[in-house]
Amino acid sequence: MAKAYSLNQFEYFKDRDLSHSLDSLTGILNREAIFNYLEYLTTNKKTCSFFLVDVDNFKNVNDTYGHMVGDVVIKQVADFFVKMSGGKGVVGRYGGDEFIFIFEDVEEYKDVWKIGHDINMSIGGIVFEGIPNLAITVSMGIARFPLNAQTSKDLMLVADKALYRAKMKGRNCFIIYLPEKHANISLKRDRDKQLTQMQLCHTMFSNLTAYGEDISLAISTVFKSFISYYMFDHMCIEAPNGLNHSVIFTLSDQKRFEHISTDLIDALINSAGYVALSNVSSLDEETFDEIKKKYEEQNIKSELYCKIAAYGVDYGYIRIDTCNTNRLWQNNEIALVMTAANVIGLLLHYQNKTLESLPLVAQTEAGSVE
Ligand code: GH3
Ligand code: MG
Repeated sequence: MAKAYSLNQFEYFKDRDLSHSLDSLTGILNREAIFNYLEYLTTNKKTCSFFLVDVDNFKNVNDTYGHMVGDVVIKQVADFFVKMSGGKGVVGRYGGDEFIFIFEDVEEYKDVWKIGHDINMSIGGIVFEGIPNLAITVSMGIARFPLNAQTSKDLMLVADKALYRAKMKGRNCFIIYLPEKHANISLKRDRDKQLTQMQLCHTMFSNLTAYGEDISLAISTVFKSFISYYMFDHMCIEAPNGLNHSVIFTLSDQKRFEHISTDLIDALINSAGYVALSNVSSLDEETFDEIKKKYEEQNIKSELYCKIAAYGVDYGYIRIDTCNTNRLWQNNEIALVMTAANVIGLLLHYQNKTLESLPLVAQTEAGSVE
């Protein structure tokens, strides 16, 4: 049986019998109980913030260590959340690797931000029994009542939109729902997400090969489709002679991006032909002084470069930047961009061209929040 979980400090839970309200694996509130509590708060117009938390890439944990270990991880994550709440918040298990955190009387942006930040910063510190090398991250969608919605159902919906955004942004982050930014997001559930990944790959191939000799148009079309699906600020080609085919995300605060010398990028690239930097400030100050200055000037926090090459010839790079916040690059994203870079390399090879020979394409804005 789950260990005792006291919530007596909250009006709603005072002297309430929780014996049928606890999740058997984790001992925190089960789905029904946490939703009943939320319903009570919204019906009684009690201000609160609602955190929808999902463990990142949890399927990998199950695939690598098995379901039994996966269960231990879920249990320890729940314990961590109870500890994190410090008696001020109520934690429930929504299902699978998803959790709900509710904080009564907390609605101010800065207070909500601090809780999200603290969770992201400390969750990696959990030491899992029997798997000391495992570190996990979580993504969170956060909604506030009554600011963002009038009913519990709508509050859940907007938190889900914010969570979806956090996942698209690369995971290991939290998004506080803001209607002007996130209202238009349409939720795609897992099956659709996987399908979209396949469709993205298919679209990328079709677009890169649809325009014959016009490689520039092919590249611009593909970059626009990437930027409207994933979350980053800027995507471009870095050729030895300069930056080209620059596409900036419509909602990006950063409106100008400058060339970064391919010589500087060469020094970062791994043997597989790419480098994924989640946090450029962690680069060694002395060795990467010059490139770090470039990042600072352009407000860049994370970078992905994939080498454009074919038959032993290096042409340049696909470069992707995110500004203001760090981004955890996912394997499927890297694989997709690497594939695009390889196809561009082949197009250049078979058409006897170089990146420098392509016409200059003006910087454009693109991207949707769908
Ligand atoms: P994402 O970053 O997109 O969240 O990727 P993910 O791999 O975490 O995928 P998702 O959250 O969609 O899937 C959660 C997985 O958690 C699906 C299922 O295999 C696993 N799972 C669900 N409930 C349990 C459970 O009670 N125990 C264990 N061990 N695994 C569970
Ligand atoms: Mg998950």
